[in-house]
Amino acid sequence: MDYKKYITVVEDWPKEGIRFKDITTLMDNGTAYKSAINDIVEYAKKLEIDIVVGPEARGFIIGCPVSYALEIGFAPVRKEGKLPREVIKVDYGLEYGKDVLTIHKDAIRPGQRVLITDDLLATGGTIEATIKLVEELGGVVAGCAFLIELTYLNGRDKLNGYDVLTLMQY
Ligand code: 5GP
Repeated sequence: MDYKKYITVVEDWPKEGIRFKDITTLMDNGTAYKSAINDIVEYAKKLEIDIVVGPEARGFIIGCPVSYALEIGFAPVRKEGKLPREVIKVDYGLEYGKDVLTIHKDAIRPGQRVLITDDLLATGGTIEATIKLVEELGGVVAGCAFLIELTYLNGRDKLNGYDVLTLMQY
């Protein structure tokens, strides 16, 4: 499916010079949303994963329906102060800003094969931080899946040695 026609490019948001890729118009189309999720589910089946992990908030939009379809768990990665129990954390840099990501300490069991999901790969900072959290807990990153890749930001360079699926490239 040509998913790009469902993405809205918003000029100068959230800052001047950023051409934000809005995925809500893809989510608004049930057929396109389901088809995109199914593509990631088929990818995940080949990787024989045990659990899906996604960073807030748009990583949930992709990861939760994938985990539902595969009848496996989903572990949320969240900004600092949002998860109620003991966490591990990592600092990371964004395309526009800086932050801390956390995951529950018992979210992943050592040796579990993990699929990491997010809506978009830009500089790779978010995914790199998420990988660090997963690996610190002893998880094995079997693959990373995104709807969109901004190839000009070279996020893939941070994912050397990892299996990566992206459904659209800009
Ligand atoms: P990175 O850490 O790879 O630089 O940025 C990716 C993260 O920022 C993702 O979690 C993604 O949700 C968000 N992000 C950055 N730019 C965009 C964009 O243009 N569209 C959307 N939907 N998310 C973006």
